[in-house]
Amino acid sequence: MSGKHWAPGTQCVTKHDHTKPKARELAFHKGDVVTIVEAVEGKGWYRAKHNDTGEEGLLAASALRERVAIRADPKLSLMPWFHGKISGVQAVQELQPPEDGLFLVRESIRHPGDYVLCVSFGKEVIHYRVIYEEHMLSIDNEQRFCNLMDMIEHYMKEQGAICTKLVKPKPKTGMKSAEEELAKAGWLLNLQHLTLGDRIGQGEFGDVLQGEYMGQKVAVKNIKCDVTAQAFLAETAAMTKVRHKNLVRLLGVILHNGLYIVMEFMSKGNLVNFLRTRGRAVIQTRQLLQFALDVAQGMDYLESKKLVHRDLAARNILISEENVAKVSDFGLARVNPKGTDTTLLPVKWSAPEALKHNKFSSKSDVWSYGILLWEVFSYGRAPYPKLSLKEVTEMLEQGYRMEAPEDCPPTVYALMKSCWELEPGKRPSFKKLTEKLQKELKHLGDI
Ligand code: ADP
Ligand code: MG
Repeated sequence: MSGKHWAPGTQCVTKHDHTKPKARELAFHKGDVVTIVEAVEGKGWYRAKHNDTGEEGLLAASALRERVAIRADPKLSLMPWFHGKISGVQAVQELQPPEDGLFLVRESIRHPGDYVLCVSFGKEVIHYRVIYEEHMLSIDNEQRFCNLMDMIEHYMKEQGAICTKLVKPKPKTGMKSAEEELAKAGWLLNLQHLTLGDRIGQGEFGDVLQGEYMGQKVAVKNIKCDVTAQAFLAETAAMTKVRHKNLVRLLGVILHNGLYIVMEFMSKGNLVNFLRTRGRAVIQTRQLLQFALDVAQGMDYLESKKLVHRDLAARNILISEENVAKVSDFGLARVNPKGTDTTLLPVKWSAPEALKHNKFSSKSDVWSYGILLWEVFSYGRAPYPKLSLKEVTEMLEQGYRMEAPEDCPPTVYALMKSCWELEPGKRPSFKKLTEKLQKELKHLGDI
């Protein structure tokens, strides 16, 4: 019997085959992913839903293991069949021995920036030039694709204008298929079970859509650009490592249309909009303190996992149906192609050492948390009103700090100021912030 307890909604992977289920039992194969519905009283059994078949039934806890985290490995590739700049002759060598449908994609040496799809067929290798026109890729000038991943996905399903359906990718030496690794670890979801609905947000890198996955409401971030999708694997890897009530939960990913990142649905949207649309008249100080505490607890957990957020701000906090605040977009700044270009950092949220020396740490997250506290207690105002980015940077150096928002409890303002200590070591930890906010909430309950 397993001593583990899995909460409803937990995704588990099956450890062996179970193909002849008794009545009310679930059938499954080794490596299938199921979603826990509920524990069955006292027996070490669970009722669960099969992620592929959608069937619901009973299974023993001993047949289950939890999903494992994905490591952010630079060898993990969404396009393991992409070999970069190699010649046609080299491509032919890579595709030996011949096998119908064995393929790779290379970058043309003669026409830099152009791609070539190389396919083994009838003992020969056929090279198809991929035409790039008006931001779209095409081989036959009819079927057009946003990116190489979509193109390959398509020709693995349909032969179309080429000699054969693509069957087997030839991975570049040393590259691992992200798709295989994600599937093995249990993080790959099934496109068939996803229904997409309205657009609920626009991210910097793609739309966020509402959806449903196996009866559960979800939010889906769609990253269309292949290079960005590859970079997002790192963020996704970070999300597979964490599980906390104050962090937006990753349900899994689907490799389609680039990359779908499927997350729990946060029905009340981001914290800035939440505060602005309701305002002082509706939201009490107690609720503001609770949001602040939620975020501090999520961040304390991230800090304990040695993860740095880098883009902590009220716009990246989402609110659930039950008014629980959760941190999202963690790890994003790291995969941001803007990277070290400090002119494009969220200046008004960034610690001085992050802006000046690109030094990010949990302590620079604490600085951003101080700004977030200010946003919360001013009901969603933009920080440093009326100051330009240049002015902010200069004035901070001279010791200037924002004033307390209207009606902000003095203890909370003192917390903000402690987060804005110039020396990172003098700023409180998220644990300390959590304790102080808990005390503050308790104090509010006592009076
Ligand atoms: P990016 O950081 O890439 O610009 P975000 O992840 O911040 O994009 O998402 C943009 C917007 O989409 C958010 O402000 C929010 O309104 C909405 N959104 C994002 N994720 C969710 C979610 N899990 N549930 C509900 N709404 C979401
Ligand atoms: Mg964001």
